[in-house]
Amino acid sequence: MTSTLDDTATTPTEGGVPELTHWIGGKAAPGGSGTFGDVTDPATGQVTKHVPFASAEEVLDAVAAAKAAFPGWRDTSLSKRTTILFRFRELLNARAPELAELITAEHGKVLSDAAGEVARGQEVVEFACGMPHLLKGGATENASTGVDVHSVRQPLGVVGIISPFNFPAMVPMWFFPIAIAAGNTVVLKPSEKVPSAALWIAELWREAGLPDGVFNVVNGDKVAVDGLLTSPDVKSISFVGSTPIARYIYETGTAHGKRVQALGGAKNHAVVLPDADLDLAADQAINAGFGSAGERCMAISALVAVGDIADTLVDKIAERARGLRTGDGRRSCDMGPLVTKAAQERVSGYVDAGEREGATVVVDGRQGDFDADGEGFFVGPTLLDHVGTDMSVYTDEIFGPVLSVVRVDTYAEAVDLINANPYGNGTAIFTNDGGAARRFQNEVEVGMIGVNVPVPVPMAYYSFGGWKNSLFGDTHAHGTEGVHFFTRGKVVTTRWLDPSHAGLNLGFPTNA
Ligand code: NAD
Repeated sequence: MTSTLDDTATTPTEGGVPELTHWIGGKAAPGGSGTFGDVTDPATGQVTKHVPFASAEEVLDAVAAAKAAFPGWRDTSLSKRTTILFRFRELLNARAPELAELITAEHGKVLSDAAGEVARGQEVVEFACGMPHLLKGGATENASTGVDVHSVRQPLGVVGIISPFNFPAMVPMWFFPIAIAAGNTVVLKPSEKVPSAALWIAELWREAGLPDGVFNVVNGDKVAVDGLLTSPDVKSISFVGSTPIARYIYETGTAHGKRVQALGGAKNHAVVLPDADLDLAADQAINAGFGSAGERCMAISALVAVGDIADTLVDKIAERARGLRTGDGRRSCDMGPLVTKAAQERVSGYVDAGEREGATVVVDGRQGDFDADGEGFFVGPTLLDHVGTDMSVYTDEIFGPVLSVVRVDTYAEAVDLINANPYGNGTAIFTNDGGAARRFQNEVEVGMIGVNVPVPVPMAYYSFGGWKNSLFGDTHAHGTEGVHFFTRGKVVTTRWLDPSHAGLNLGFPTNA
């Protein structure tokens, strides 16, 4: 099936590189600012598209379209809203491979991983299809004599979503299915590195019958982000990205009176206790360290080996890492490239620094035989041993396929390491001791925890979010916290006149 994106959201240019658009009020809107960015195919290094960067005025156009669509959408019955959501789900199921191909072409992750990302996003659509149940309020009869009370939750209005490059479909889908099902209208600002998935999704919504203006996309950079952060018509911001930007989004958005959830970066540790199944731990260290080339906020980047198992564990991981095939995600590879040349250079630079600072490079991905044509942005799986907590490979979020082994003597040292870290997104423990695992989940200061599960991303009906510098704001993504974020509560106290209640009483209302 051909991509619907080819028909409307791109226009050919003279140089043969297609130009993407924005999506405003139900149709493609060509960029008018005159500023564009390059979109590259990370496996070949080729520039494949130009993406327009919205001006402040173009952002306001998108917000105005969303604002105009809000009253009609808010007043559309829940059953009509969820009928459209079901249709969106069916269309996405039928066309998921098309979206996965688009993700691989701009992000670089292998096709099976891109398909997995779409599936995890689809789970949130399915959760949001249950919105009639999720929005049910409470009711109390006769709270006072002849007085009833009930609660409802209502949509906020126009909501802004700003997403990172590493999940072009799934991260926006953590938010917009719930926001839309709850009656809000959306302006999404995707990452300028991977803009096509959002435009593809916009066209799918149109096909599903979503009214014009309910879902809008503005492409761009800081100008577009600041437009959303400062517009009084945008009532909330859902942001996912690096910690410094998340902090900025939270501070600026809340200063402008908005509700903000800003999910930031991560440095996730996996602890391997001496009693663990070391083959399972080695398999999972590979999956969690090198899946999506380490460009996941839930990737394991620090492996904490407790006691005398470290040599055996490092050998097992090294053997597996050497067997991985890195190359073009459209071929039968295990791992694709990094997203940009800058990311490739940054990650290699961290490995150089680690080596200089005294870490042992057990498996070196800086050079390799990569299965791709052209000048792709590759770094192969890299395993560092004897990593110290003062080395930059340990202190910084690398966001690449680099697994650092830190050796400690005791369980307590491992927990202290994690709790001293400024991030608190995800962590895992590998052990066969239920008591140790139970103590770990109780003591560790991290939002999402896996027990013999390396990437503990919660299902859509739970909420996703970290602690400390991994999340600013107090509401996590999707699940019931997502429903709460995209709605405001109201409590209604009702009395229907009865002749027996006649008469004045200026006292404070009490239960009588
Ligand atoms: P990023 O912070 O560079 O960009 C995120 C978004 O912010 C993009 O849309 C980008 O255009 C915008 N942006 C960039 N610079 C900006 C600025 N100066 N002012 C305003 N907006 C700006 O992040 P990224 O590189 O796209 O994504 C990787 C990061 O995202 C990693 O740190 C990763 O851990 C994090 N992440 C976190 C989660 C989570 O759930 N906590 C999930 C996915 C990714």
